[in-house]
Amino acid sequence: MFAMDVLDRPALVLNRHWVAIRTATVKEAIGLVAKGAARIIEPVSFATHDLETWSDVSRAQEKFGDTRIRSARLEIAPPEVIVLTAYEGMGERSVVFSRRNLFKRDRFTCQYCGAQPGPEELTIEHVLPRSRGGLSSWENCVLACVACNKRKADCTPPEARMELRRAPRKPSWRSMARIEPRMRRESWEQFLSRAYWEVELEG
Ligand SMILES: [Zn+2]
Repeated sequence: MFAMDVLDRPALVLNRHWVAIRTATVKEAIGLVAKGAARIIEPVSFATHDLETWSDVSRAQEKFGDTRIRSARLEIAPPEVIVLTAYEGMGERSVVFSRRNLFKRDRFTCQYCGAQPGPEELTIEHVLPRSRGGLSSWENCVLACVACNKRKADCTPPEARMELRRAPRKPSWRSMARIEPRMRRESWEQFLSRAYWEVELEG
């Protein structure tokens, strides 16, 4: 593989709590590490490195072979995961509670009967009805078809003898960002599942 291709590869970016927030190109990742805004994470050991120590690690590992990026001073393997050392200049990624994102989370599917009648026939339904203090939030709103919405009315699911297909929760940025499988690297998996479990839920 040529050096140009290596620099364009994706690297996973974690915030300083080690939660995945986005991807960057290898070139961008190296730039962040070079100016001290991030450190490279060594897969498996989770040791973190600046460019100098990462260069030592890279030189010691045969497997990187020709993918190593060389400069006069350094010889580094393309970083696959980096962790930011500060928030500055890097917004936290969170999923906005919006109609569009709710439809996306529930996959245009009624969360009671599983029907997919199309967006016009789906409504945003409050699990605990608004009239009884239910909030408009990720945890209290689901998509429901017109028939299920009507049937449930001002009841809770048990009162209406209806069952949610799954508990509604705030989606992880990953499910919304949709990183294509072919773009994903094996070393990312542990961090992506971590992002899923540790995503901040609203109270
Ligand atoms: Zn339904």
